[in-house]
Amino acid sequence: MNDIKIAFFDAKPYDKESFDSENWDSRYSITYFDSRLTEQTVSLTKGFDVVCAFVNDTINAPVIAALKNNGIRLIALRCAGYNNVDLKQAYKNIHVVRVPAYSPYAVAEHAVALMLSLNRKIHKAYSRTRDSNFSINGFLGFDMHGKTAGVIGTGHIGQILISILKGFGMNVVAYDKFPDHERAEELQFSYTDLDTLLGTSDIISIHCPLNKETHHVINEVSISKMKDDVMIINTSRGGLIDTKALVEGLKSGKIGSAGLDVYEEESDYFFEDFSSHIISDDILARLLTFPNVLITSHQGFFTKEALSTIAKTTLNNIADFIKNDSPENEICYRCDSVSCRRKKEGKCF
Ligand code: NAD
Repeated sequence: MNDIKIAFFDAKPYDKESFDSENWDSRYSITYFDSRLTEQTVSLTKGFDVVCAFVNDTINAPVIAALKNNGIRLIALRCAGYNNVDLKQAYKNIHVVRVPAYSPYAVAEHAVALMLSLNRKIHKAYSRTRDSNFSINGFLGFDMHGKTAGVIGTGHIGQILISILKGFGMNVVAYDKFPDHERAEELQFSYTDLDTLLGTSDIISIHCPLNKETHHVINEVSISKMKDDVMIINTSRGGLIDTKALVEGLKSGKIGSAGLDVYEEESDYFFEDFSSHIISDDILARLLTFPNVLITSHQGFFTKEALSTIAKTTLNNIADFIKNDSPENEICYRCDSVSCRRKKEGKCF
């Protein structure tokens, strides 16, 4: 199979390590490009069969047209989310596969890390004690036990988060467009409508995909319905939150704290070192000034186990595509889902 040539974009040292380890027998020829896939870099794909892309690569209509023109047959996303892909344009042009679940534990545990850090001010305590300042003024937290967590989206990650939070003794309410009542009974949480979740939760954590319906699900109006001093956690996609409204909520004191692993305009900054540059994004710069905001740069997925599963599943997806015209982890514009009936009937593409 090493006649299959993969153009791997936005390659970081840890990607190279995990993919080279999984491709130990050189069954594929992988060329790593540090640059992201964009309209400017798409010309690099000439002579390749497959493009391997990540969350901040641009896979819009012009890029897809250029990929097709360059002979690319498959876009193998090495991530779960696919909001950066114009699926309508890809439909009947180029197949798209993804890694639906590589380690839901990684992301759920990261959401909990954000909650605990914000609640107990660990991010502040770390710097204070390193400066030999052992005062605990300003670090007052709350018992999570007995409080209510609201989980938006109860898929792979949401369900794991719920079981962790139940272990803390929290009450959990959830909202999902497609509720899983069986799991709700097993995990002892209850489904509710979104407004009730917003109005009753002390901590709100978002775990649904970003799409037209969920874009800015957290906005000025939904924030106004929340309890005072609420904590908001977003490890899903930046576009789920209207960041300007979040900043206003933080400024007014309505929002007690926010833990963000993702940000609406993250593609300009996340995964890169800007420590000696000026941040020109005023909203990001403002967010970074709040003592009660903790930003991590899309590292929820970043565990050894997840990297290994991402590499394994991505290469398996490519093998699956070569063997089978309708690979298991295919996503397309018509089904927009991995568990679609049309695909099972072989009518997906
Ligand atoms: P999943 O598909 O298993 O679960 C998503 C859930 O959202 C499903 O239960 C679905 O029914 C629900 N949903 C769909 N539309 C909805 C709507 N309009 N309103 C409410 N709920 C809705 O996905 P997952 O594996 O749990 O991942 C969740 C999200 O986490 C992904 O979409 C991705 O954006 C993000 N993610 C982030 C990282 C990271 O590193 N931070 C890593 C992986 C995934």
